[in-house]
Amino acid sequence: MQVTWNEIKQHIASCTQCPLSRTRQKPVMGRGSDHAELMLIAEAPGGEEDVQGIPFVGRSGEILDDLLRDCGLRREELYITNILKCHPPGNRDPKEEEKIACFPYLKYETFLLKPKIIVCLGRVAAQRIISQDFKITRQHGTWTYRKNYALTATYHPSAILRDRSKYETVKQDFYEIVKKKDELSGN
Ligand code: SF4
Repeated sequence: MQVTWNEIKQHIASCTQCPLSRTRQKPVMGRGSDHAELMLIAEAPGGEEDVQGIPFVGRSGEILDDLLRDCGLRREELYITNILKCHPPGNRDPKEEEKIACFPYLKYETFLLKPKIIVCLGRVAAQRIISQDFKITRQHGTWTYRKNYALTATYHPSAILRDRSKYETVKQDFYEIVKKKDELSGN
């Protein structure tokens, strides 16, 4: 696979592979360290991300930053992206054809990054990446192993905005993610 980060960025910036290209304001490329061991994947950019063209800004982004800080992580050492690079109007769930159209970009990002751990944020990402019948309420925090990386899922930060009591649950999942990262890095 011959591709560079810049090429992916350029393709996403001018992509018209699905109808979201007609309603988005700015496509949202993943962001973070190009050598991150930890990759976070959510379903799609929200309204604020659509305006700024940056993943996880706005209130969900603030919650994510709180979680990372509580677990001793910094955004600069992660790579954060979405399955869809363009905002679905009204924050609706991504449609299957949109996920299929956009998935190659995520594959390229994963290929270039070669993360040790992938964390799916929310049901939609977990069902697309871990298994179709993944139940986020019962299976968050569990681990699946693929050839080159470990996979887990937790709630999307927007779920914490709706139900503040989930914060501690997600924080515990992130503690385990940090432990797994240390274990895989031999620390
Ligand atoms: S969501 Fe993905 S496939 Fe659809 S227009 Fe945006 S970048 Fe292209």
